[in-house]
Amino acid sequence: MPRTAAPLLTSPIPRVADSDRRRTSASVVLRSVLEHGPVARSTIARLTGLSPASVTDYCARFAELGLIRESAVPRRSKGVGRPHLPVDLDDSRFVVGGVHVAVPHTTVALLDLRGRVVARRETEHERTDPALVLARAADGLAALLAAAPGSRPLGVGFAAGGWVDRDSGTVVEHPLLGWREVPVREVLGAHTGLPVHVDGHARSLVNAERLFGQARGSRSLLHLFAGNVVDAAFSTNDVVHHGPRSQAGAIAHLPVPGGTEPCDCGRVGCLQAELSELTLCRRAREAGITDGMNPMHVVGAAAAGDPVAVRLLRERSRRVGRAVGLLLDVLNPEQVVVTEVGIRHRADCLAALREEVGPGRAETVSPISFPDSVLAVAAGSVALDVVYRDPLAASPEAI
Ligand SMILES: [Zn+2]
Repeated sequence: MPRTAAPLLTSPIPRVADSDRRRTSASVVLRSVLEHGPVARSTIARLTGLSPASVTDYCARFAELGLIRESAVPRRSKGVGRPHLPVDLDDSRFVVGGVHVAVPHTTVALLDLRGRVVARRETEHERTDPALVLARAADGLAALLAAAPGSRPLGVGFAAGGWVDRDSGTVVEHPLLGWREVPVREVLGAHTGLPVHVDGHARSLVNAERLFGQARGSRSLLHLFAGNVVDAAFSTNDVVHHGPRSQAGAIAHLPVPGGTEPCDCGRVGCLQAELSELTLCRRAREAGITDGMNPMHVVGAAAAGDPVAVRLLRERSRRVGRAVGLLLDVLNPEQVVVTEVGIRHRADCLAALREEVGPGRAETVSPISFPDSVLAVAAGSVALDVVYRDPLAASPEAI
């Protein structure tokens, strides 16, 4: 009688691979050290739900890699046995590089494992052709690393506005820069010899807030970036939504009710045309406040008491508030952070924005946590997010 094979047990529910489980456990242990360090291993076990043996094992591997170290002097208790040393991040050895390309300039930076900017330089663009911009950025990073001989780079993060596809490492389209299908990961990787990670800046700042900012611990987070480029990003349960080809958050051409600005797309009143710093600066030029493209000149004029500059900034923050209100209706996040020059520098702008968002929801909105280093943090956080998601793979040995 022929033997028949037992039917395979199949389930539509995907199984968690052991490698995924290890990666997730390593990630939560290192995140716990980041958030609570110096912290006892037993506390990490309690916080994460992992076994003490498993936490001890991950900590030993992180210590070997140089990502964490035992901290401070052991407290000798009257008990016997090995003293329990708390562990903390070792922020003295490793850095990540960051490259942020804005419309007028490129920022290159080094960040430590706590997301702090340890070195930075900014280069104005004479031209924005990608080969030149990326080659200069790589030179800038090399100069920063040469000036910090004790720091070993774990990788490079690249961030920009526009349509940036994380998976292919490509800037798909950035009309204001004139970039289209630029293989940034490949180009910067060839220049630097380091692993390069690429993402949109609105999304990378959500990761920065999750890891290092005041919005840490928020279960759902929306970020609106209103610079020259206007885009948005959101995360739920610690994961930033990208969608197919990373197109999520492209809100530049959402119509704003009552908008009057003509947009490059041929319509009037698109979100980006209304909120862009380019529009703010044009209006400030028309009012004789500045002759340039730098929104900080408008902030400076407002601080010096120019009533028109104050009005322009408040109006813009109010319009940003209207956009936040629209996005809140769609996504209902627990917390909102906004990157915008007015609210970064002026309490009256933040008040105007919150007023427009409306009572009950206004208190969920705050300015981005990195007011003086937002672009550097955006770039570096692309790489730091990778380190914290998969710390065992992000070691220099993997390079
Ligand atoms: Zn448009």
